[in-house]
Amino acid sequence: MSPNESSHSIRTRLIHGENVSQRWEYNHLVVPPITSSATYRLDSVARGAQGFHEFAHTPEGETRQVPIYIYDRLDEPTRGMLEDNLAIAEGGDMALCFASGMAAISACLCTLCTAGDRIVAHKVLYGCTYSLMRNWLPRQRVGVDLVDLTNVEHVRQAITPQTRAIYFETPINPQMTIIDIEEMAKIAAEANVNRPEHEKVRVVVDNTFASPYCQRPLSFGADIVCCSLTKSIGGFGTDIGGAVIGPHWLHDPLILYRKDFGGSLSPRSAWPTLVYGLPSLATRMVNYQSTAMRVAKFLEDHPKVERVLYPGLESFPQYQLARKQMRDARGDFAPGCMVYFDVKDPEQAGKPAARLIDWIAQNSYCITLAVSLGQIKTLIECPYNMTHTAIPDDEKRALGVLPGGCRISCGLEDRDDLIRDLEAGLAQV
Ligand SMILES: *Cc1c(COP(=O)(O)O)cnc(C)c1O
Repeated sequence: MSPNESSHSIRTRLIHGENVSQRWEYNHLVVPPITSSATYRLDSVARGAQGFHEFAHTPEGETRQVPIYIYDRLDEPTRGMLEDNLAIAEGGDMALCFASGMAAISACLCTLCTAGDRIVAHKVLYGCTYSLMRNWLPRQRVGVDLVDLTNVEHVRQAITPQTRAIYFETPINPQMTIIDIEEMAKIAAEANVNRPEHEKVRVVVDNTFASPYCQRPLSFGADIVCCSLTKSIGGFGTDIGGAVIGPHWLHDPLILYRKDFGGSLSPRSAWPTLVYGLPSLATRMVNYQSTAMRVAKFLEDHPKVERVLYPGLESFPQYQLARKQMRDARGDFAPGCMVYFDVKDPEQAGKPAARLIDWIAQNSYCITLAVSLGQIKTLIECPYNMTHTAIPDDEKRALGVLPGGCRISCGLEDRDDLIRDLEAGLAQV
């Protein structure tokens, strides 16, 4: 690190990252190369032995140096450079990258929990995380208690001596409900007073929706951040990936898990995230969210729209909490790129929303019917029928995820074009 590197703003640091990395002969390259080497030359048996010996064994009290590279799945330079820069973005000690967001989330939870342990999680979760908690973790005898984390008393009551993690997204997909990270950290701290390290409750936040540009959970006392790199951080929609960012102690068990379960991020996917995605995150997010604000206001005023949920709107039920928690590194309010709205739907069967989205799918030039988010193209989808199918219908309705709901991820198009297409689509409803 050059003497004044850390004094630069995050906007600058996302572009330059570690700037000069010992992971690669970097001195004459402006852009790091894509590494594409499954295996690595080891020079001598002694050096090979040292590499194996040191893998996942960081000496007590030391931070890791550049490792002896052995084999791509274990550790490798392009992915390593991305990890260094993601740790900077989230303000964590270390980051590890996985083949997808789900590979990152499952690795994180399986590293924290063993048979007999429990997780307290918010009752609304990303569909695949919900399925992980409902179908797969219980098979490993890891119990999951799904509760309403917006109710602090419910969280306190749900924590047992077996609880190892409080897990949630914020803002929550799809309705942008916000969980108070600081409150969750406080509850974990209370529960941890007399617990030894290996029994502590860790606060784990899926920061995919906000991205580190809009919110840094570790700065509010969370222990670990999980995220999908496929979304805002990747930004261009070309690659799938995920990351876990957190404290030093997590590095060794987590990289060991990644080695053995095998979900390492390919360097060919790490590279575009390192070279295009992360460096452009700040400038994309500034544009996404100013467009999201305009789109949200347009929808709020539209007679065919029942309600709009966007953390940047003063009508947002948790507006004050959003203002506290969603801030860019300069301290400005950063409500993100995701807007949820319910089309007026007297029959509650989802027909008007389907008419709107089908019209957009077939006729809109600049809004695309597709899942995912945070990309340069604006995307729309219907959570009730698409991303949230893993949740039974009656539960979805009870949670307020209605058939008339639509989710928009604002991209970089001209906002007036987006609004014109939405206007034309709403005219069909
Ligand atoms: C997409 C997403 C994930 C999973 O990420 P993948 O890269 O698709 O595996 C997890 N959480 C949230 C909130 C997401 O939006």
